[in-house]
Amino acid sequence: MKTRVGFGFDVHRLVEGRELWLGGIRIEHSLGLLGHSDADVLIHALCDALLGAANMRDIGFHFPDTAGEYKGIDSKILLQKTVELIREKGYSIGNADITVCAERPKLNPHIPAMQQTLAACMGIDPDDISIKATTTERLGFTGREEGISAYAVVLLEK
Ligand SMILES: [Zn+2]
Repeated sequence: MKTRVGFGFDVHRLVEGRELWLGGIRIEHSLGLLGHSDADVLIHALCDALLGAANMRDIGFHFPDTAGEYKGIDSKILLQKTVELIREKGYSIGNADITVCAERPKLNPHIPAMQQTLAACMGIDPDDISIKATTTERLGFTGREEGISAYAVVLLEK
């Protein structure tokens, strides 16, 4: 069996007047992430890690933000399409480990729901998706609540 590792990183700006979508679920908050899609930064980092492990470029290559069909799209659809792409190349998912950096809101209570949602979307066991939430101790753009960043590592098997 061949195993391959992939890494993904993404950032979106926090603004007023947008819903906050993270890990495939909507979270009540005064600010939301800005983007062409629903701006689910966690899912975008995960997609890039999956594509990276399969050496299949990145999310912007497959789902360009200039394409009208992706405007306001639910990122879970992009994740499903990404998983289809890597399965077509013969890969299956071993596990994923994701870290989200956000000063607010508190994400820990939402992590089990995110794991369930993403696992269902990807057709894998929730135990194979780890999600961790951290702050940057009020430092930098995440600390100033100007944005949220996410990092993901994925293992693929063939
Ligand atoms: Zn993104």
